[in-house]
Formats: sequence, structure tokens, C-alpha cells
Amino acid sequence: MTVRTRFAPSPTGYLHLGGARTALYAWAYARRFGGTFILRIEDTDLERSTPEAVQAILDGMQWLGLQHDEGPFYQMKRMDRYREVIEQMLQAGTAYYCYSSPEEVEVMRERLRAAGEKPRYDGTWRPEPGKTLPPIPEGRKPVVRFKNPLDGDVTWNDVVKGPITISNRELDDLIIARSDGTPTYNFCVAVDDSDMRITHVLRGDDHVNNTPRQINILKALDMPLPEYGHLPMILGSDGQKLSKRRDAVSVMKYAEAGYLPEAMINYLARLGWSHGDEEIFSAEQLCLWFDLDHLTKSPAQFNPEKLAWLNNHYIKQADNARLEKFVRPLMESAGAQFAAAPDLQAVIALMKDRVNTINELADAAMLFYRQPQPDPALLTQHLTDAVKPAIFQYLESCKSVAWSKEALSAMLKEVLAAHKLKMPQLAMPLRLMLTGQLQTPSIDAVVELFGRETVLARLAKFL
Ligand code: GLU
Repeated sequence: MTVRTRFAPSPTGYLHLGGARTALYAWAYARRFGGTFILRIEDTDLERSTPEAVQAILDGMQWLGLQHDEGPFYQMKRMDRYREVIEQMLQAGTAYYCYSSPEEVEVMRERLRAAGEKPRYDGTWRPEPGKTLPPIPEGRKPVVRFKNPLDGDVTWNDVVKGPITISNRELDDLIIARSDGTPTYNFCVAVDDSDMRITHVLRGDDHVNNTPRQINILKALDMPLPEYGHLPMILGSDGQKLSKRRDAVSVMKYAEAGYLPEAMINYLARLGWSHGDEEIFSAEQLCLWFDLDHLTKSPAQFNPEKLAWLNNHYIKQADNARLEKFVRPLMESAGAQFAAAPDLQAVIALMKDRVNTINELADAAMLFYRQPQPDPALLTQHLTDAVKPAIFQYLESCKSVAWSKEALSAMLKEVLAAHKLKMPQLAMPLRLMLTGQLQTPSIDAVVELFGRETVLARLAKFL
């Protein structure tokens, strides 16, 4: 059997964390077994689906590197196919026209509710051997209903949740085509999964209730059933349902905030699946390891600190030239002056250990690319008359010292000794004069990167 998985988002917003995780697992499972990963856009909800949302999903998938092998297939472009299957089912007697009006159905439901029964369609138009159907009301357009089995159970062995059984008595004769002929949701999903020969359906557990209906339709079509796996929801960092307001739920928001896709992949992979104690692994490793036996049954809790920690890890690992590509445009829009400033990749190498995001890296790197404007009060505090002679000596020594971190460090120590000062007494005013800030990486590293001319010019201004 060739594994065929799909991601089937409804394009009504953006690619959110839960959707991205579903897509990732379906993708990884297909990759693991040399299978096929299919993208299907479920855009039949015309009021809520937008082209922008389709684009947002494509962008998100591309950013994460989740390349599909087939598709995107759009349900709206498959209407003829759905009509064809509905026709077949009407012919085969697995579906029937129902002329009950919505008002009549509501009355039926009320009656059953009042009798303490589950409200459902009462089967008025359901053909049975020997049954005479009512006369067709004039001018009324019928819906098409699926002839759901009346008895027995629907059972499947959910790859996440284990065996699930639903009694057919719980299930209505589902409307599969509305009176205007448009097919309905569960029907389209079943037809698509069948036509696309999907072997494994992985999706959020908000779809558990749809599964028995889809299984019954597939059985009626005499089609093989895929395996189903329903992934538990992702909870927000406060343990509540992930909320659009409280939590950043759009994947692209993380891209904008300076997260690397490999950090997001690693994070989402672990949010509901595990491989022993492995916390840090690449998409390639995931594709070698991903299985359905280690999916977590309980809801996962979103942990922004862990994501930030992973991002820091991947930023540290990342090639400086790659980081430069991300960081430079951000710095340009923040007004960075690159002329006569240190090499950006050298700055990135110095700064990347201490940041959690690309955006923080760009902010931190700005230190080297703007004119320092030290706070006068801080200058008065740190650049005292007691340290000025030492600064002067430091400046003089800078004119001839070998320009390496080691030599600069040795020189700084000599100056400290000569003036009986402690490191911060000199390092703080130097930082202020050179960068305008008190917090920087080691002063020797900063001085080395600025280069002799800039250091001399900046120090001279204050003496
Ligand atoms: N379109 C559904 C959604 O976005 C997914 C359906 C499925 O995976 O079967 O929630």
C-alpha cells in the first residue's frame, strides 16, 4: 500500500498552529513511507472562504517547507464530480429525494424532543420496500438525503484515540445535496478522500463526529476506508482553548516575529508526538521517525518559552550568511547605516547566541549601525574625572595596538592596572561612548568589530 495523506483546510482565515501541526503530521507520515501528500482546499463555504485565506495557507505551508505532491485541489472545482456521485447514489438507492420543508423537519424534531427522543429526521421520504411515499408537494425542490443504516454501529480504530463506536441510531439521514443542488460538507469530504485514494486521514478531533457519517457514505459507495486519526486540540499557555486574542495563533505571525521555520517545525512536531526523549530534531529526522504510535492522546499545551528556546537554538546553528538575509532588510527599515560599519556577518556571529528571534537579532545588531546618543545623565555618572585619564590612555593606545581581540584585551588590562580601576569602571563609559548603551557584548569584541578609526573618532568626541 502506498501511503496517501492529505491536508484539507477550509480557507476562512490563516494557517493557525493547529492546522499547521495537522499538515506537518500528514506530510511527515507521507514522507516517512515514500508516499504522497495532497493539499485540498475545502472552499465550499462561500460566505467564509476567501482567496486571501487560500493564499495565507499556501504561504504558511511554503514557509514551513511542507511541499505537497498533488493539488491544491479545490472543492468548488469538483462540483460536477459531486453531482455525478449523488446521481449514482440516487440510482443505487443509497440516497433519496426528501421533500420535507425545513419547517416540517423542525416540527418532526420538536415532536421527537418532546417524546424524549433524539431529534432527527423521521424518515418520511425514506423509501423502504412496500412503503408508499407521500405525494410530492407541488413546486417544492427536494434535498437529497443519505440513506443511513438504521441499525448497527460504526466502529473505527482511531490511530490516536483507539477504538470508537457510534450507533447508527445516533445518526440522521444526512442531507448530502441542498435543494439548490449544492453538495454538503461531509459528503464532499468522503467523495474526495475516496477519489484521492487517501489512506490516512489525520485531522483535529473536532471532526470525530463527522467520521461515522463519512464512513457510512464511503461504505455506501463501496469504497475502501482510510485509517482515521483525530489529533487532540492545542491548548493555550494558560491551559484554556487556544484563543486568537490571547495567543498568537497564526503561523505567519511567528515568521513575522522572527522565528525560523525549522524551529516551528521542531516545536509543532513535539506538540503531540514524541520520539523517545528527543527534543531537538530536523524536518529530515522527523520524516525518518514519524509514526502514528507515538501521537499524544491528551491535549498539548502551547508553550511560547519552549518555542523561543528552540528558536534560539536554531539561530545559533544557522549560517551567518542566511541570517544576514533575514536581518539586513529589518535593519534597513530601522535606519541602519551600513557604510563604514563593521561586517554584518561578524556582528551576527557575535550577537546570535543571545537572542530568541531574528527580530531581536536585528535590534541587537543595530548597536553597530547607528550613531551613539548616550544619555547625558549616564555619561555624567560613568565618565567621571577619575576615569577620564584612563580613557585618554586607552584612546592613545588604540592608535598603535595590534587590532585583535587578544591584544585589545591585554591593552585594556594594562590601562586598568595603571589607573587602579576595575573593569566596569572603564568598560561602562567605553560602551556608552562607543554605542550609547550600557549593555553590549564584551567590550573587547565590540571595540574590535568597530575598527580602529571608528573607535578613535567616537572616543575623541568626549575627551
Ligand atoms: N476542512 C476541515 C477543516 O479545516 C478539515 C476536514 C478534514 O481534514 O477532513 O477543519
